[in-house]
Amino acid sequence: MIKLRFKNIPLNELTKTIESLGEKKFRAEQIKKWVYQKRINDFSEMNNMPKALREKLSENYAVDKLVIHTILESKHGDAVKFGFQCIESGHLMESVLLIDGDRRTACISSQLGCGLGCVFCETGKMGFLRNLTQDEIVGQFLGINDYLESRNDHLITNIVFMGMGEALSNFDNFLGALAVFMDEDIYNIGGRRITVSTAGVVPSVERLLKEKLNIGLAISLNSYSNEIRDTLMPINRKYPIESLVEIAKKYYAVTGRPVTFEYVVIDGKTNTAEALNAISAYLGGFPCKVNLIPLNPSSGSMLCGPTDMSLEKFYEELLCRGITATIRKSRGQDIWGACGQLAGKKLNNENTKS
Ligand code: SF4
Repeated sequence: MIKLRFKNIPLNELTKTIESLGEKKFRAEQIKKWVYQKRINDFSEMNNMPKALREKLSENYAVDKLVIHTILESKHGDAVKFGFQCIESGHLMESVLLIDGDRRTACISSQLGCGLGCVFCETGKMGFLRNLTQDEIVGQFLGINDYLESRNDHLITNIVFMGMGEALSNFDNFLGALAVFMDEDIYNIGGRRITVSTAGVVPSVERLLKEKLNIGLAISLNSYSNEIRDTLMPINRKYPIESLVEIAKKYYAVTGRPVTFEYVVIDGKTNTAEALNAISAYLGGFPCKVNLIPLNPSSGSMLCGPTDMSLEKFYEELLCRGITATIRKSRGQDIWGACGQLAGKKLNNENTKS
């Protein structure tokens, strides 16, 4: 019999599930802590619970953790890349741990591959394989916490959904995972320490607003003109820059949280004088931030990242025009830090072998 994955049960259905096994509802709280906080791999580890309950759970559910296929540690000690193996297909889901002072940020994947096809993105080149389940999204987080604990480090403090895939296109499982991360009795990670990135799926941002989670929102802008953005991010043909600016203003008005516009700097393409003028016209005059991300080198691409000098110049020019800007450190280049680069390598290797 194929067992159901326990961590796929929505948190708000856990009590009902435990009661349906003939157990008292207070057991749900206990089991929740064992599964998520103590990160058990087998129900038999719940040593303060009745044996009959442990056996009943084991008969019906699987609670084993994701298998870590690869761990790549940056030589600078500021990033660790994880490749978790999908149970049924062997594909890799990527996650990254970013280490910055006391901050431990988990960059989580939400889909296997991605159907949005941004040309600068390794994940986009894989195409869309499938949505990750709640079990798999939460599983990445648990696996990273296991890694941190094994090094006597403190656990994850911040979460960004900026790994493989478009989290807002896997909305239910994304929400289910958030419920675990934000639950006061489990990890209690507040909305201020969680950010979701979107390529610009405007209706899903509207849906996110209705959830009133007050998490951070980052929109991948990456170009200053619809004509160019159409060629870099096909989703722009459906939701052009004007619609992104409009939803960002609404997000700020409703949540009080300024939206971050992620902007991959591609030398000679997205860091021109024309770009500066257009960005000021779009984003000037309302609270938001532009996060400049130098393009990560990727195999087979004709596109280049900027030099340090040209990146700094572009940043300064934005500040001069009154646009709040930051430069994101491109951590972990030595461990293929950009999303999809590890999984892409695995798949390519397998293709070569077959
Ligand atoms: S950048 Fe994000 S939305 Fe675009 S293809 Fe990559 S994973 Fe998908």
